[in-house]
Amino acid sequence: MKLSQFGAKFSSQSGIQVLMDDLGAALAGDSEILMLGGGNPAHIPAVERYFQERIQAIASSPLALRKLIGTYDPPQGDQAFIQALVEMLNRHYDWNLRPENVALTNGSQSAFFMLFNMFGGRDEEGGLRQILLPVTPEYIGYADAGIESRLFCANKPSIELFGDHTFKYHIDFASLQLNENIAAVCVSRPTNPSGNVITDLELEKLAARAREVDIPLIVDAAYGLPFPGLVYTAAKAHWDEGIILSLSLSKFGLPAARTGIVIAREDIVQALSRINAILNLATNSFGSMLALELAQRDELLTLAAQCIRPYYRAKAEKAQETLHQVLTGLPYHLHRVEGAMFLWLWLEGLPITSQQLYERLKEQGVLVVPGHYFFPGLDEAQKQAWPHCRECIRISYAQDDEKVRQGLMIIGREVRKLYQA
Ligand code: PLP
Repeated sequence: MKLSQFGAKFSSQSGIQVLMDDLGAALAGDSEILMLGGGNPAHIPAVERYFQERIQAIASSPLALRKLIGTYDPPQGDQAFIQALVEMLNRHYDWNLRPENVALTNGSQSAFFMLFNMFGGRDEEGGLRQILLPVTPEYIGYADAGIESRLFCANKPSIELFGDHTFKYHIDFASLQLNENIAAVCVSRPTNPSGNVITDLELEKLAARAREVDIPLIVDAAYGLPFPGLVYTAAKAHWDEGIILSLSLSKFGLPAARTGIVIAREDIVQALSRINAILNLATNSFGSMLALELAQRDELLTLAAQCIRPYYRAKAEKAQETLHQVLTGLPYHLHRVEGAMFLWLWLEGLPITSQQLYERLKEQGVLVVPGHYFFPGLDEAQKQAWPHCRECIRISYAQDDEKVRQGLMIIGREVRKLYQA
């Protein structure tokens, strides 16, 4: 069997697959695993109750049920939900959206596959057009999303230290080059894995640089603004025609509904809808139907701000406090917890690699994600030359607080052993 260059990439497991397999095994296994690995959102009782009632209401209406399970939506996505989203966003932001500015996708993961390959890849003259990730570490799920190899390139960040144990990544604008090979720029805000939220000023500057050379800036707000709103620092949602804003219902509490929302210029939405028709025929109706009334009543925004954000923020604070306690006296740095659901721990001078630490922790019943997966766009030589890539781990605090605490204690114990060996 002979595979294409793209197919051959999957003859071994990709990072995101290892992560999702770990998640599945932890959920399916008998043994008690402390799951501080995958990106599964928390189970927030008020949110779960709302969706339970909504599903019951749909199930008891033959017409609504038929729409849920018995009809194809158009490839752009459910029109009623798109209309409700547009009206909700126009009530709160001066974005002047029209339904033609919104495409739904089966999860935002699939939106990225479409967008990256729509802009990046070989152009008509055979030249390679790349997607630039302006701050790395960046989301593991981008890494293998290019049909063409070397689709991504990335810029190392500058690092700001706050005292001994806290740091923050910034875009290093001085070294950021948007040359003619760059087809688009993409940044997750908040960033998975670091929880970094690039500042409003950085976003503005980045958008201006992209506009200057007429390429889109893709802002991945899967955790961010306007919803689900897992942002714990001052930051604004922003969209204009130079930006492709990608949202998702997953971290709102509906990861299984596979609903991504792309807000973009009309021609980009049209192209996405056409690709979506080829790839998926239609989009999934489930998320649109479950969230329709939330959009109509602005509750995608109010629930995000009043329920989802405080829920995660409280968990973030507890987790940080425990982590600082269990690592007292060790040479660690924690990325400033500005958003998302992760602690990004940088163990400077770690005597083993983050992959080896991950394996030791797994033996102790704790799953985390080794940091080296989160540097897509850097080539092997760049990664080799930057020990930071092998000194970080990502720890999710989305699950039960007590389990997170137990996991952090084991992490503290194992890390201490390493430094004291
Ligand atoms: N973007 C980021 C930064 C993520 O962390 C994830 C998933 O965890 C996604 C996009 C994809 O999410 P989904 O396909 O569930 O919308």
